[in-house]
Amino acid sequence: MTEKNKIDLKDFHCIRCQACCREKGYVRLHPEEPDAIAKCLKMEVHEFIKTYTRLTRDRQTLSLIEQPDGSCIFLTTEGCRIQSTKPLQCRNFPHKWKFSEFEIICGWAKARRHK
Ligand code: SF4
Repeated sequence: MTEKNKIDLKDFHCIRCQACCREKGYVRLHPEEPDAIAKCLKMEVHEFIKTYTRLTRDRQTLSLIEQPDGSCIFLTTEGCRIQSTKPLQCRNFPHKWKFSEFEIICGWAKARRHK
């Protein structure tokens, strides 16, 4: 994709296509997030960490685990199971980070390209 064809993110709004939740890669948690997510799930934090997270390869953070198809463990047919406390990494997409080929994977970006 050339610079000229790049999509301007200032109008971005999530259309809940869930493409980012299916992308490979870590969903890293900030130190305070396990407590908030465990509370949302009505679980003890140690139980949440044991059940739904793993240590990243660089041993710097915990990451959410994936379902067998590679999508996030919290992705359901109705959307994100932890929507109200979803990690900052998810909230910051795509303004602070985005995966390569974002423009051809994200539902909003695809719709923009076909306008
Ligand atoms: S936590 Fe929710 S928003 Fe974040 S990747 Fe998982 S399903 Fe998607």
